[in-house]
Amino acid sequence: MGHVFRTEEQQAAVDGLRRFLNAKIEPVVNKEYRDKFIPREKMSAIMRELTQFGLISGVISEASGGTEIDWLTMIMLFEEVATTSVDLSVPVVINSFGAYMIEQLAPAHLRERYLPGLVNGELFCSIGISEPDVGSNVLEIKTRARRDGDHFIINGEKTWISNGSYSDFLICTCRTGDDPRRGLTHFLLDRKEHPYEVRDIHKIAWNGQSTAQIFLSDVRVPATNIIGNEGEALKNTLSMFERSRVFVAAQGLCIGRRALEEAVRYATGRRQHGKVIAGHQLIAAMLAEMATNVDAARMLVYRAASMIEAGVPAEMEAAMAKYFACEMAVTVARQAVQIHGGNGVTKDFLVEKLAREAIVVPIPEGTTQIQQLIIGRALTGINAF
Ligand SMILES: Cc1cc2nc3c(=O)[nH]c(=O)nc-3n(C[C@H](O)[C@H](O)[C@H](O)COP(=O)(O)OP(=O)(O)OC[C@H]3O[C@@H](n4cnc5c(N)ncnc54)[C@H](O)[C@@H]3O)c2cc1C
Repeated sequence: MGHVFRTEEQQAAVDGLRRFLNAKIEPVVNKEYRDKFIPREKMSAIMRELTQFGLISGVISEASGGTEIDWLTMIMLFEEVATTSVDLSVPVVINSFGAYMIEQLAPAHLRERYLPGLVNGELFCSIGISEPDVGSNVLEIKTRARRDGDHFIINGEKTWISNGSYSDFLICTCRTGDDPRRGLTHFLLDRKEHPYEVRDIHKIAWNGQSTAQIFLSDVRVPATNIIGNEGEALKNTLSMFERSRVFVAAQGLCIGRRALEEAVRYATGRRQHGKVIAGHQLIAAMLAEMATNVDAARMLVYRAASMIEAGVPAEMEAAMAKYFACEMAVTVARQAVQIHGGNGVTKDFLVEKLAREAIVVPIPEGTTQIQQLIIGRALTGINAF
């Protein structure tokens, strides 16, 4: 697919990564570990290789040991990873944003201790916001951190936490006060020093990596493990969402892109009524619609990434990208199954997996409905939450 807006440097970076993914990663994630959990050692080995291409390390400045890549190029690289495997893209995005939060907000002792391992792909982090009763409304977080001298004691439960069972540490959003906007604080919990219990959740798809419940029972953590200032977790989370949503939008884009690629391959090989099915106008129309929607999603994702790179507020544009790309994934993956006919619902073809993966992507990082509410608020100034 041609890209008039890629520089030669960006194209070379994308091409190099694509060659590596096709040769080394595709057989692992889509054959050996297809629909199977990738153990931590294996996932870590893959992360270490991906950091060589600027994944994870790219969001960190050279001064802090990263490779400092602009946000649009990061998205272009991330698109290649997520097109090969959405499972693989999850630890990339979570470790990237864990690293980003630590570089931007954490005190020096935490930066020195955790950033190098994240940037070289050896450490895994989790970001724990959601709870059993707290999904779309972050303001209602119940996990409590109670001050005890120069420590805090944390009790509560987090759920749907990506990287959970891989994690070496958890950036945990806790309630430290009752003020609606200044009552939340981020803590870094080291899994060995401040033990938390992890239980994996089995889902319809995205089971190649870990999504987990995390239980926190009288976890004692020093006040020096606060990330950002006490009471600033809501502000810092909302500002992170603007960036991280563009990556989840890219996951939707990639499920659609891969479904389209699989559908084109099948439609040009399968024969019915005396010719390949791509030669039937209704199939051609379906492919045309799929390709146009995939490209439209890419434009929205790239626009949001470009605005972030330019330092322009992009809350509405990130929400539009997330909304459109993730709903597009559901539609396009379903069309890809349809083009495969009966074969489309068997485990022999990738599209059944893509269709299951597509159903998941409109949920994390704010559901489709939450994105619609953000867009509506930006348009009218009226909060309809
Ligand atoms: C694969 C996966 C990975 C995840 N990873 C993480 C992670 O790493 N860290 C983390 O903290 N969380 C994570 N999440 C959690 C995710 O962010 C939440 O699932 C999401 O925010 C929705 O919350 P909920 O599931 O509680 O749904 P709810 O908030 O209960 O929503 C249920 C339904 O109600 C709708 N709804 C809710 N409020 C409104 C409203 N005001 N108006 C209209 N409709 C509304 C929603 O759109 C949805 O359709 C992950 C989730 C998944 C599925």
